[in-house]
Amino acid sequence: MEVILQNLTKKFPNRDKKKKGDVIAVDHFDIEIPDGKLVALLGPSGCGKSTMLNLISGLLKPTEGKIFFGEDDVTELPPENRCIGLVFQNYALYPHLTVKQNITFPLENLKGKDKLTKEEMNERALQAAKLVQLDGLMERKPAELSGGQQQRVAVARAIVKMPRVLLLDEPLSNLDARLRLQTREEIRRIQRETGITTIFVTHDQEEAMSISDMIIVMKDGALHQVGKPQEVYDDPSDLFVAKFLGTPPINVFDAQVRDGKLYIGGDAVLEVPGVEDWPVYAAIRPEGFIPDENGRFSCKLSGVEVMGRDYSVLSTNSACHSNPVRAIISTDHKVDIEKEVVKFSLKPHKVHLFHKETEERIRF
Ligand code: ATP
Repeated sequence: MEVILQNLTKKFPNRDKKKKGDVIAVDHFDIEIPDGKLVALLGPSGCGKSTMLNLISGLLKPTEGKIFFGEDDVTELPPENRCIGLVFQNYALYPHLTVKQNITFPLENLKGKDKLTKEEMNERALQAAKLVQLDGLMERKPAELSGGQQQRVAVARAIVKMPRVLLLDEPLSNLDARLRLQTREEIRRIQRETGITTIFVTHDQEEAMSISDMIIVMKDGALHQVGKPQEVYDDPSDLFVAKFLGTPPINVFDAQVRDGKLYIGGDAVLEVPGVEDWPVYAAIRPEGFIPDENGRFSCKLSGVEVMGRDYSVLSTNSACHSNPVRAIISTDHKVDIEKEVVKFSLKPHKVHLFHKETEERIRF
């Protein structure tokens, strides 16, 4: 089911008397979420992700704008009539009910033509439990399950009604690192098998990048960029997006363009034909550096961390916003750790320039 947000806006009254105006949690969002895809809503804490999910679910009413599921305008529909599945961070299972009872619970209240017999309910619950691989634990109570298993019960309960849209709000936050990895792959598998359009809220860029078909990057209620994870990583539209995606993060430098060359400090590090003379931010991905004795970008070498397949060269540069500069280098290249200075040449497609005032991308 395609989800279309038109001019979607949510304002909350500001309770802080010193601050004027409303809190704009979601600011005029226009977006089309394609049918059958897994989409991550990604952004830092407070950017409006949960508000957005609550608007789509109907738990919150928008101040302005409309929400469509396919052709249906659902803006005024209460949550129970939107045919959605919801999963929250804190599983919210009924502790006194078994896994089976928790999963069947949403089916108990179906009315009219949707009403199911006991056998049909059990069959649907079993199918959902199989999908999340919990069919062997149907008689357990939540307290007898691990965190990952509890979250899978929550997912089964959300999909048992075969929702049009599945909404997940930071579903992995309460799990430890290993379980997070495992469970996110499970969510991807379940989404693929069911084909349900799924919107997944996270502040973890790695999580979003690894399992989503599409990411929506937002900050302060505003949409910054939408696209396939690799496209957004390779082609960020502004400095915020460039900095938010990627581990280790992108290295940002104060820089200057003069006569078609990019200067960082005194070094003319790259040809940037067609770019006007302008002070800029130059952001270089860690994998954009090549150690090169004749390279034009010099940094003060501070260390080398071996990581097996590749290694990380740490250095400092006075133009860098947050030293150390981190370069990820394949083991094919050598760096002389005895030297004080490391010289790099740069991969042009890993260097992005941004306006100092607007922080918008300058393409070259
Ligand atoms: P987190 O990742 O920390 O959960 P988030 O991206 O989900 O954050 P929201 O919870 O959607 O962010 O909040 C967005 C903004 O709206 C924040 O500034 C928050 O303080 C504000 N906000 C949220 N709910 C209310 C409310 N009921 N009343 C007033 N302000 C609110």
